[in-house]
Amino acid sequence: MRILVIEDEHKIANSIKRGLEQETYAVDVTYDGNEGYDLAASEDYDVIILDLMLPGLNGTEICKKLRTDGNHTPILILTAKGEVSDRVDGLNAGADDYLVKPFAFEELLARIRALSRRPKSSVGSAIKVGDLVLDTLAFEVKRASKVINLSGKEFALLEYLMRHPGRVLNKEQIIAHVWNYDADVLPNTVEVYIGYLRNKIGKDLIKTIRGFGYKISEA
Ligand code: CA
Repeated sequence: MRILVIEDEHKIANSIKRGLEQETYAVDVTYDGNEGYDLAASEDYDVIILDLMLPGLNGTEICKKLRTDGNHTPILILTAKGEVSDRVDGLNAGADDYLVKPFAFEELLARIRALSRRPKSSVGSAIKVGDLVLDTLAFEVKRASKVINLSGKEFALLEYLMRHPGRVLNKEQIIAHVWNYDADVLPNTVEVYIGYLRNKIGKDLIKTIRGFGYKISEA
């Protein structure tokens, strides 16, 4: 899951980034509205966290432009207390939800989870493929009821694959959703991590589709 944070208060932006990275999300941060719009328009994010009062384009303008462009990435607006009419403007401009500052990180996390689309095979916080179960809240992976320990990146990669069961995902898509913009991702990084995952969860679930990418499906 890859998230863009557009927020000019560095302290807030950076603490959101730290918190979300601990939850295995890949996070890009920008403090400027124009750069925020450019990133949102050119990169593939799962959720955008958007402040309203920004240098350059403001949050409402960014929201409107993205929706006019046909970009439907879920947008969560951050708003200071008292900016009620701004908040309404934001929702009218096409945002999906809002959160009033100051907020508890747990609440932000809950909103993000609600906004990120879940495949039909997920029940509550658990995603299943065959006898493999990934719990996005408990950060736990089990196969045939046996717990498997994964690193943060391995977990994020497996979660991305399991959210699209049976679908072939190419390396570019995988990198875009699992690593952030600043990450140094070598061409064989995805292959290496797929290898780690196969060693831990078993070799039968993740298939290599030569020349295209990878997909996860029941054995
Ligand atoms: Ca601001």
